[in-house]
Amino acid sequence: MNNLNNSLTELRKKYREIFIKSANEITKKINEIKPKNFKGELLDCYPSDSEGFIWQTKVLDLLKENISKEIFRKLNEILAYRTKFNCVGCATCCKLACSEYSPEELKQKATNGDNFASQFISIFVPYKSIEEASKIYPEYINLLKENGEENVYFYHCPKLTKDNRCSDYENRPQICRDFPDNPLSFLPKSCGYNEWKTEIEPIALMLHAMLEIIEFYTDRIAQTQSNQ
Ligand code: SF4
Ligand code: SF4
Repeated sequence: MNNLNNSLTELRKKYREIFIKSANEITKKINEIKPKNFKGELLDCYPSDSEGFIWQTKVLDLLKENISKEIFRKLNEILAYRTKFNCVGCATCCKLACSEYSPEELKQKATNGDNFASQFISIFVPYKSIEEASKIYPEYINLLKENGEENVYFYHCPKLTKDNRCSDYENRPQICRDFPDNPLSFLPKSCGYNEWKTEIEPIALMLHAMLEIIEFYTDRIAQTQSNQ
């Protein structure tokens, strides 16, 4: 198993632990607003004017208003902290951009108003073969293969010069200026933001876990309430 694979296994283990801890914390908050001596469970079905239904509505409010807002505030703090670190100009992010979408799917998304897709296809072109993409970062491509991640498309930007400079720096799109904006996304080992990513990873994992749990509860409560 190579180093990247070890790190991925370690990350998944950490995420599982953090997920359980976050789920316990959210459950505690949900139970704190449960009506006294009420025997039902949160995801049971209740008539619309009942104590159970009102509890569910309060929980939705707690998750969407209080907890979600706090999560986004923390995410913004993480991004603001990134400005303390610097791009070292390795250009790997210009030479190898990955997407779960094919060029055609990206075009379709852009036509449908997806701003990210629109910026992406304005600069990136697909590699002709996976072998060509592999030359940029073989360990990463191997990692995807070993983990059965077959549905990945590889792109590069023709605006990059031979000496690794952006030939249209002043007009580069926002997605270039913002990279890396996802604290949990994969970064090449040469990237100057790896120190930032390592430092904020535990909190970013916790926020991701909390968002996943919130999505689960909000979907299930909405489903339960719509069955009334
Ligand atoms: S536009 Fe410039 S910064 Fe953006 S990917 Fe292309 S070469 Fe890199
Ligand atoms: S991978 Fe990181 S260090 Fe390299 S060019 Fe992109 S942002 Fe800069």
